[in-house]
Amino acid sequence: MRKKIIAGNWKMNKTVGEAIELANAVKLELADCNDVDVVLCPPFTALKSVSDIVSETQIAVGSQNMSSEDEGAYTGEICHTMLKEIFVRYVILGHSERREYYKETDFWINKKVVKALEKNLRPILCVGETLEDREAGNTEKVVEVQVREGLKDVDAAAFTELVIAYEPVWAIGTGKVATAQQAQDVHAFIRGIVKDMVGAEAADAVRIQYGGSMKPDNAVELLGQPDIDGGLIGGAALDATSFAAIVKAA
Ligand code: 13P
Repeated sequence: MRKKIIAGNWKMNKTVGEAIELANAVKLELADCNDVDVVLCPPFTALKSVSDIVSETQIAVGSQNMSSEDEGAYTGEICHTMLKEIFVRYVILGHSERREYYKETDFWINKKVVKALEKNLRPILCVGETLEDREAGNTEKVVEVQVREGLKDVDAAAFTELVIAYEPVWAIGTGKVATAQQAQDVHAFIRGIVKDMVGAEAADAVRIQYGGSMKPDNAVELLGQPDIDGGLIGGAALDATSFAAIVKAA
């Protein structure tokens, strides 16, 4: 039985002061919630404060990106040592906004995934098709390439640690949620790819989150699907009550 995992991707929102307020509110709302893994992913500048706030709780902290390098002359980048020093446990990698606006490719995303795993950080690898891809009937093709390339050279054993997030690009921030069946179909497809790559045991263990306009009112149905193991929440994670309601629906 896979434990559900709900992560809040705060994206480029919240000053340190605002992040402290939100993290405290989430902590209060989820004081006795132990049966779901909860991860908060604030911007880099707020990671330390949020990490301090949740340090004695079940809530974990994740970053929204990470360099594939160890240290050195990489202006503007943040490496694993810096994240681990402040008790970051998860790293979102290959989010569609990074693929689209910053031209991150599967090659670089894979280098980051491999580095994160090597350093005992848990990658949340994001994959998903654009509306154009879906309308052209290319959803499976696009998602398959992102999964295979993004998880290249990853051992079967690591699939208990890493998380895959299926985020159809057309559903992100648009209020247009995938139907539970559409999401389930792609999740099952992704699990099938993992099985083909590294075997049935890893495929059964890997957690696959859905992301894209997940809200308290659609969370129950989405999270009730057999291959949907959690959510990667954008907009609704910026409000403690909404985020907590999604966690409680899991
Ligand atoms: P929304 O929940 O705002 O659609 O964002 C989803 C997302 O991109 C999470 O990473």
